[in-house]
Amino acid sequence: MPEATYGGVPRNKIPWYPIIDYDKCDLCGRDPECKKFCAHFVFEVVEEHGKKKLIVKNPNNCVVFCTSCENVCPIPGALKFPPKKEVRDLIGKLRKEG
Ligand code: SF4
Ligand code: SF4
Repeated sequence: MPEATYGGVPRNKIPWYPIIDYDKCDLCGRDPECKKFCAHFVFEVVEEHGKKKLIVKNPNNCVVFCTSCENVCPIPGALKFPPKKEVRDLIGKLRKEG
């Protein structure tokens, strides 16, 4: 189960999860490497207008600051993450606000 908080901050307030570039992602043919790799059920494949599409179904399941699925993706830039520093600063700010 994903943690409900990270560093004392509610997980759902932390914008850390993969961002899919749909201009680049080709679903790895039909068998998404990222979805197979991630043990946290972050990704899902859905059908949209008769076409299969990868989505980030459970963003809050993503482990904060993990980027591992980027390494198994065969297409550079198909998965991106926000700048770590920005997210770290935001977590610090939210923590201070309590
Ligand atoms: S591993 Fe990369 S190319 Fe393959 S489905 Fe995931 S994002 Fe798309
Ligand atoms: S960054 Fe890590 S936890 Fe998040 S979706 Fe990718 S492999 Fe899963």
